[in-house]
Amino acid sequence: MKRRIATKTLKRAEPLLPLLPVRTVKQLLLCAILLVMPFRSPVLANRPRSFNPSSLADQPQVRAALDWFTKNLRWVDDEQVKLTEIPAPSFQEAKRADAVRDILASEGLTIQTDKIGNVIGELPGSDEREVVVLAAHLDTVFPAGTEIKVRREGGRLLAPGISDNGTGLAGLLAVARAIQAAKIKPRLTILFAANVGEEGEGNLRGMRALIDAYRAKLRAVIVLDGSGTDHVTTKALASRRLEVLITGPGGHSWSDFGMPNPINALVRASVRFINTKVPTAPRTTFNLGQIEGGTSVNSIPYEAKLKVDLRSENEDEIARLESSLRDCVAAGVKDEMDNARERNRGKLEWKINQIGSRPGGELPPDSPLLAALRSADEYVGNQSRVERSSTDANIPLSLGIEAIALGAGGSGGGAHSLQEWYEPAGRDLGLKRVLLTLLGVAGLAPQKGPS
Ligand SMILES: [Zn+2]
Repeated sequence: MKRRIATKTLKRAEPLLPLLPVRTVKQLLLCAILLVMPFRSPVLANRPRSFNPSSLADQPQVRAALDWFTKNLRWVDDEQVKLTEIPAPSFQEAKRADAVRDILASEGLTIQTDKIGNVIGELPGSDEREVVVLAAHLDTVFPAGTEIKVRREGGRLLAPGISDNGTGLAGLLAVARAIQAAKIKPRLTILFAANVGEEGEGNLRGMRALIDAYRAKLRAVIVLDGSGTDHVTTKALASRRLEVLITGPGGHSWSDFGMPNPINALVRASVRFINTKVPTAPRTTFNLGQIEGGTSVNSIPYEAKLKVDLRSENEDEIARLESSLRDCVAAGVKDEMDNARERNRGKLEWKINQIGSRPGGELPPDSPLLAALRSADEYVGNQSRVERSSTDANIPLSLGIEAIALGAGGSGGGAHSLQEWYEPAGRDLGLKRVLLTLLGVAGLAPQKGPS
């Protein structure tokens, strides 16, 4: 910081150089530095570099909202604990959604719950032709019946789902409350959305419905997912999940020996597929994640199933992998049929169903949303690493709509495990970063001057 100030001071003296003798210039510079340093540096040291009188954070209402976070951290912790303790497996989010709905309604927002269960609180802007969405997913990966009681240990909160996405939901409510408490009127309409169906086979259905409903007016989407302030997801990792199903007549292991066997066919297909070459750049992966079939050790099965996850930084590679999987299954089934001793005793059928698809996409580097995040980072003194990941932001990014995913502050770990934890220390920095990014794109309503 100090070095930067000194450089600036020298630069300002530069136009004098051609007009004056070197010695005089040196003396002038020395005087200038001595005069300026003691007065300017303590002030500048306290001010982030982007700070200037016209900046967002210098507006009294924005400042009040930023202060709100620092004063109300306990409230945010408590809401996070309450929401986390309401079970919300994907497709069973309704109870937790109702709790979020009540809090958003108490902030004076106009609330609606859409057909599939997303809760949306609307804060109208002075220009209602465009909207900015701040979203956090309601659902967790934990099945119904998982014990969820938040424990406090030292500075930590521990429970399944406490961070993913207890932190995001608490952040969503805190930002809404801070904006309302400070009576901020945005220029664009802000939608605070707690959405269903982000995890696993939820397949981003909540975000898909939000985008469908608001696409024509959508300026940007900011997703709050989990904790942290160190990253910004601007690249959507594409994935596709497929289920292979092979069926046949089935029979007795001894008396029907020789008839085509769906498990044999699946094994033949799988061995072919796992030899498929994938590039390291763009990074491309596959996983044979679940295999099932058969009813007993002494029966020829009538069915065999395989679930496969395909991911790539480039969607063309996913399409290539899917077509390779289809070729391998067709070939595996053909091998089994050709090699069956009793081919006429039943035919194998196969099909591949898509059980999930997350499209890819990237935020352009010159995006105004990313610029807003960068200014917010600069203001709070944070640095963000750009990440590629699979989040609700995949949907808008795949459609060319500006979107990012952020952690909602603090730190956490053990996501998707029973040991999940969250530590709120430093949460206010994360919330300030979110608020400034949101207002950076939504803007403030023009002030009405005295008339
Ligand atoms: Zn999540």
